[in-house]
Amino acid sequence: MCALISLKNIAQIVPKNIDIIAFDLDGTLAPSKSPLQPEMAAVLIKILQHWKVAVISGASFAQFQSQFLHNLPCPISLLANLSILPTDGGELCRYDAHTNKWQCTQDQPFTDEEKQKIREAFAHAFTTVGFVQPPTTYGPIIEDRSTQITFSAYGMEAPLDIKKTWDPEHRKRSAMVAALKPLLPGFSIHIGGATSIDITRAGIDKAYGLRKLLTTFSITPQRMVYVGDELFPDGNDAPALTVGALCVAVQGPEETIQVLKNLLVATNLEHM
Ligand SMILES: [Mg+2]
Repeated sequence: MCALISLKNIAQIVPKNIDIIAFDLDGTLAPSKSPLQPEMAAVLIKILQHWKVAVISGASFAQFQSQFLHNLPCPISLLANLSILPTDGGELCRYDAHTNKWQCTQDQPFTDEEKQKIREAFAHAFTTVGFVQPPTTYGPIIEDRSTQITFSAYGMEAPLDIKKTWDPEHRKRSAMVAALKPLLPGFSIHIGGATSIDITRAGIDKAYGLRKLLTTFSITPQRMVYVGDELFPDGNDAPALTVGALCVAVQGPEETIQVLKNLLVATNLEHM
């Protein structure tokens, strides 16, 4: 397990002891499924000048591009410090300066049989908990992301104000997860985003992605900080607690900015 700290005691983070800072995306760097805001982008670009940065989420790479990368006006020279891990690390993407493109390596995708089993489990869970698809949805409510299947109550593209009111206490999704678990042994099931449940093969979760990242860069867990907004039990950041990094629980992007600004101030003090 690793230390879990909140904004109150972020002074425990010693800049010179860190090689990499990893972030969740939705609710941590940006509002759920919404663009990265300019203030966060500006702070992240400063952070990229000092540390390796990784962003890990259940989102697809296409979602990362529209939500995150297109809103990060980052010099190409700094992109070498940035790693993107879509589908909780089922993919690892890095910028290739030779081709000027992002290159992703991907795990083995779900088989058709596995996909069918997951869809049937969702249909069963919907009946068990009494979930009825809303009359208006915004994109598919079950999305195939190759190494991950994601449920979103109103669809992936639903406006944030609709999403926010659906399950703020996670009660609906906790009941759905409880109904899914006995039907899907051998799979990981996690609550994510504002209305989502992510399903991957067992062992594919944020801990898996973060370990893959540490191996890629030959970094020990003690030299990583992980920042996420769902580090509570059954939250999709909770597996990160098993990696051995220092985990920082935030309430939203505003708190993440405070954590990062504090880190930058501490770094400048170190150099004085
Ligand atoms: Mg989140």
